[in-house]
Amino acid sequence: MSKTECFGLPFDDAEPEEIVQRALELIGKKSGAYVVTPNPEIVLSAEHHSALRQALLDADLMIPDGVGLVWASKILGKPLRHRLPGIDFASMLLEKLKSKQGSVYLLGAKPGVAREAADHLSRQFPDLCFIGTHHGYFSNSDEPFLMAEIQRSRPDLLFVCLGSPRQELWMAAHRSELPGTLMIGLGGALDVFAGRIPRAPLRWRRFGLEWLYRLFREPKRIKRMIRLPGILRAAIRERGRS
Ligand code: UDP
Repeated sequence: MSKTECFGLPFDDAEPEEIVQRALELIGKKSGAYVVTPNPEIVLSAEHHSALRQALLDADLMIPDGVGLVWASKILGKPLRHRLPGIDFASMLLEKLKSKQGSVYLLGAKPGVAREAADHLSRQFPDLCFIGTHHGYFSNSDEPFLMAEIQRSRPDLLFVCLGSPRQELWMAAHRSELPGTLMIGLGGALDVFAGRIPRAPLRWRRFGLEWLYRLFREPKRIKRMIRLPGILRAAIRERGRS
């Protein structure tokens, strides 16, 4: 699959359908597999967080999420041709998996949210089996019990929605314990699937303004958003160096 490097990270830069097809092929892999969906914020943190960087590099698929990455890649002179928001990728994958009557486990978000997301998704995809859910505020001591439950369920897909960097580190640490399962790190996707946070209207998304819409809906994100122009500054610095 065609790759485009951005800040030393080899993004899979292909048409959404090709990415989804590759993801379907990863289901059933004996070593286990995981997908990361880095946005500018994750890429910036990986510059200083070596374990996060390694977890991104070890992923089986790396999908660019966020228009900021496309802008930064243009400054770097190696433009990403595609971007695919994690939530759109997940929805497309569920659509494809339904003909195989696949199974899905939802992990993450506040207590109750994953269950609500499973209820919504089962109505949308009645042919899929939403085999289990667990909230994302578990402690280290809860982990063996949680892992045993997921292993018993043997899902085709495991959505890991713990926020970054926790979700990427968790997937990298547990891949080998979940043979056959494809894990996907999806940030706040369960809040959206549960209907607790609305997605930006299509027109906003087309213009790459989903981040602005989320800021209106959740003004407390301002502290995080304020750091985002950093990706453009980092691209300008990197361009200057090369
Ligand atoms: N979360 C979690 N466990 C944690 C910290 C966060 O399950 O220890 C959840 C949080 O409830 C939210 C998601 O992880 O559902 C992170 O969402 P955020 O909006 O930060 O992610 P983004 O979509 O911006 O990547």
